Formats: sequence, structure tokens, C-alpha cells
Amino acid sequence: MARRQYRDTAVVLRTYKLGEADRIVVLLTEEHGKVRAVAKGVRKTTSKFGARLEPMSHVRLLLAEGRDLDIISQADSVESRAPLVADLDHLTNGIAVLEAADQMTVEREPAPHLYRMVVGALRTVAERSGPLVVPAFYWKLLAAEGVRPELDACVRCGEPGPIVAFDMQHGGVLCRSCRSGAPLSAEALELMRMILGGRLNDALEVPASAVTHEVAAHATKALEHHIERRLRTVAMFERH
Ligand SMILES: [Zn+2]
Repeated sequence: MARRQYRDTAVVLRTYKLGEADRIVVLLTEEHGKVRAVAKGVRKTTSKFGARLEPMSHVRLLLAEGRDLDIISQADSVESRAPLVADLDHLTNGIAVLEAADQMTVEREPAPHLYRMVVGALRTVAERSGPLVVPAFYWKLLAAEGVRPELDACVRCGEPGPIVAFDMQHGGVLCRSCRSGAPLSAEALELMRMILGGRLNDALEVPASAVTHEVAAHATKALEHHIERRLRTVAMFERH
């Protein structure tokens, strides 16, 4: 019986070995969400096909539906991943983008906005380094998932300031009387407002400091908090 074939564009999130010569490729596709597919024979050293299916590769694919896993029959490069693997800085940032995207997506659940965000983030990673490239992606990702943190005023009492803390449990920033979560400096708050308030490019120019480190720590914690809650929700649905 002929397998149904389909075309899609994707970013390779990760790969792992299958048998002697094959590789399983986890893809974030534009139209089909996260897809796990087999690339046959790619671990032979002569495979050009395999070289196009490394993590961070952006590819146009022809896939055939399989019983458990789809099969990649064709892969063409959309853009070069060379700038992403040029040095450790770019590579580390690129991998962080992939990991966050992987954890935010469910297999076969179309998420074209997420695909576009990942493609955009990898382009940013390729063009520039800097301490806020990845944290900014995390904040944007959370906002796209509907959990944009409240940064304008205290989430509990509405006081505009002074703001002294950030707590993702409450969904944003807090004043002195309502404080919970982690301390938040005025400088870090300003950077977070820049990232989420349409001044992303200015924020990405800021050199590394204790403040960018603080913003990065808040972003990582907020993302982890969201993923954990999401994973719990998924587990709950699977049990019933
Ligand atoms: Zn308050």
C-alpha cells in the first residue's frame, strides 16, 4: 500500500541514533507541529542528506507517513546553519532556543506561530550574540503562550511602584507591601519592559552585567515554572 506523502518546512530540534545506520529526527514543522521521523542511512559518512538534518538545520522536507514514525524521503536546506555553529556562544544560544521549543510543544499539535518564532530566534542567534538573546526569546515565548508577565504595576494591589519583586506564581511584578517570589531590581524591570514592550533590539544591545544576569535568571525560572505546570496538565489528561 502506498504511503501518503506530505511536504513541510521544519527546524531540526534534536536527533538520536536508530539501529546501525538510521537516525530519528525530531522536527518542529510549520504545519504539523512536532514530528518524530526516521532518516534512513544517514549515519553513513557519505550521506549529504544526513548533513542537512543536524540540530538547528532549517529544511524543506518530503515525508511519508509511517505506522509509528514518518519517514523523511527528501531534505533540502532552506538556510545555512553555519553561522550557528561558528563558535560556542552561538551554538549554546541556538541549543537553548531548541530546548525551550522542544519542551513547549506537543507532538502533532500544529503550532505555526511557534515555528515562526524559533526560525526568527535562530536568525537572531546567527546574527548576534549577547546576554539577552535567549532570555528575550523565553519572554516572547511565554507571552505567545498567553502568560505574558504583568510588568506595569503590582499584580496584587495595582500600585504602579516602587516595584521590588517578581513572582511568576502571581504572574508578574509586586510592590513592597505585596512582595513575594524573587527580588527584582529597577534596572532589570526596565530591561524586561524593553523586551516585552517593543524595544527588543535596544535590549539586545545591552552588554553583559549583573542586571542582564538577573533578567536571564528570571526568564529561566518563569519558563521552567510554565513548562512544569504544562507538563502536569498533560500528565493529568493522560491519566483519565
Ligand atoms: Zn502591591
